[in-house]
Amino acid sequence: MITLTSEQEMLRRTAREFAEREIVPVVAQIEAAPHDAIVPWDLCQPLFTKGAELGFTSLLVPEAYGGLGLSCTELVLVMEELGAADVSIPANYFNLTATLNLLVARAATDEQKQRLLAHLGEGRPMLFSGALSEPNIAGSDLFCPTPDPSIGVQSAAHRQGNEYIITGHKSAFVTNAGIADAYFVMARTDFDVPVGQGMTMFYVPAETPGLSFGARTEMIGWKAAHHTEIYLDEVCVPAANRIGEEGQAGQIFAGVPEVAIGLAACYVGLARAAYELALDYARQRVSWGEPIIQHQAVALKLADMMVDVQSARLMVWDAAHAAEHDPFTAATLKSPAAKTFAVDVAIRTAQKAVEILGGYGITKEYQAGKFLNDAWIGYSCDFTRDVLRLGMVDFL
Ligand SMILES: Cc1cc2nc3c(=O)[nH]c(=O)nc-3n(C[C@H](O)[C@H](O)[C@H](O)COP(=O)(O)OP(=O)(O)OC[C@H]3O[C@@H](n4cnc5c(N)ncnc54)[C@H](O)[C@@H]3O)c2cc1C
Repeated sequence: MITLTSEQEMLRRTAREFAEREIVPVVAQIEAAPHDAIVPWDLCQPLFTKGAELGFTSLLVPEAYGGLGLSCTELVLVMEELGAADVSIPANYFNLTATLNLLVARAATDEQKQRLLAHLGEGRPMLFSGALSEPNIAGSDLFCPTPDPSIGVQSAAHRQGNEYIITGHKSAFVTNAGIADAYFVMARTDFDVPVGQGMTMFYVPAETPGLSFGARTEMIGWKAAHHTEIYLDEVCVPAANRIGEEGQAGQIFAGVPEVAIGLAACYVGLARAAYELALDYARQRVSWGEPIIQHQAVALKLADMMVDVQSARLMVWDAAHAAEHDPFTAATLKSPAAKTFAVDVAIRTAQKAVEILGGYGITKEYQAGKFLNDAWIGYSCDFTRDVLRLGMVDFL
């Protein structure tokens, strides 16, 4: 049996209350507005600051660097609660930033940790972004093993003395591009080896000259999120901002399975919310003289939804446990499995909610349709379902 400590229960309650009080009203406003009428970050920034003050972005960072020094289990408890209110806010703002803070704590030098994590101790929240993919060249093939230099990331970083000059173009899907305070940019420092071995990671503050952004990408869901292309035009980065050694960017990212595990937890939250909406509706809506939950066709769907949500949650908790105790298995198998399964569960749970709500399932009055659109976005973010499963094969 899995039991949570009283501290974990309290953190979960704090996250749930935060989600209901801060996220729900903001998301309602964002969902009601046309894409071009608002910049969602304008509405989300205040709640991001409040969440950061509660520790949602510093959970995983050791106390010595201003974090809470907690584990991936606490991360997934928080992300599920926030994800039940809206998946895009925790996935994009809280989980990504929390896990990039962890990346620094894990992969950076002591000097870099002191400098790049100083904001945590100073109570000055920073929003982060990871810029990897490139349009039509580097999506699924980011870590392609083929030693053809034309495959994968083409953004290039050339060393000049104590600096690197980066030139390139990142895809329209880069999360938080245009609004982040700093970017973790992957660029090629070696074109003679397969892309996965030739990429280097750089910490690039948002105000660095040469960095510019496209228009906000309009997506079918994740309305509270912000994604754009990034243009890097001779962006000059001090060598002191290179994270890890040259060629290590892939390894460094792979060393933070918490990114995908936290994302999976956000999707458990979505699936739970879809199930609860459908259950509530099925108890109230009467057809043929009785609540529709009394019709077996509906009841069985609800039972399946409950089983799916609980299975996905346990898988995420297991992956979170592995992240602490067996990072290799977490990185190679348990995090891709948890992310894949949680998104699958979110998609089918949201679809069943649409079905159970009948005509109301596709109205904007209810959230079932929003859940389904938001769920589908999980399919391809942080690698597609198929590519994640192919990546697992060598470790089965
Ligand atoms: C919401 C969202 C957020 C994102 N956030 C970020 C971010 O913060 N930073 C960032 O850098 N990128 C981000 N991305 C980009 C993301 O990593 C890529 O979209 C993803 O890896 C898929 O790449 P692609 O879109 O180029 O699809 P493609 O690579 O073109 O894939 C198209 C189809 O082909 C399949 N396919 C491709 N190659 C293979 C193969 N070798 N074997 C089998 N099937 C294959 C895929 O599974 C897919 O079905 C985000 C994407 C989304 C949707």
